[in-house]
Amino acid sequence: MKNRQSGIFVTPGDKLGVIEEFLPGLGTYVDDGNIYSSTIGHLLIDLFKKKISDNPSTSITPIPKVGDIVVGQVVNIQDKNIVIKISQINTESRSVLTGIMHVSDVSTSYVKTMFNAFKVGDFVRAKVISSTNKEFHLSTKGSNLGVIQAFCSNCGHLLVFQKHRLRCLNCKKIERRKIVLGYEKGLD
Ligand SMILES: [Zn+2]
Repeated sequence: MKNRQSGIFVTPGDKLGVIEEFLPGLGTYVDDGNIYSSTIGHLLIDLFKKKISDNPSTSITPIPKVGDIVVGQVVNIQDKNIVIKISQINTESRSVLTGIMHVSDVSTSYVKTMFNAFKVGDFVRAKVISSTNKEFHLSTKGSNLGVIQAFCSNCGHLLVFQKHRLRCLNCKKIERRKIVLGYEKGLD
């Protein structure tokens, strides 16, 4: 794990690295060999793929194992389950797989319905707890797992954590998620 991953706050135009060093991930753009942020947040640090020379040049779709940490986006929500499109496994790779999470694996506290913890479009960091038959079951139990980037369901702006609540600074809506400890804080 690289310390660059741990929630550095970036804004559009910030230089994040060079393409010799990283492959540009979501929320970045490349100009003259440099990688810049195209968004606000810390997520793109998470989505960075390390130097490609660390991996074999043939790009085989990596398969998550039990215990792996994945990052992905919520694509479907039902009362008791969500489906996550996995975009990253550990910090090294990318994939096009989906994972599923049951409401009992969201938190160590009781969660009644998935609608209280996630919304479609949220980016989530989760742990693989089962991979039987290539069905990847995920969990966000633990303070370092959960939603890492969420968007206002009213206006689409990035939600920030401020005064103990997840807030939209644009339209003032307050929302609820199972967020990670260290979710992006809004400036007072
Ligand atoms: Zn809003």
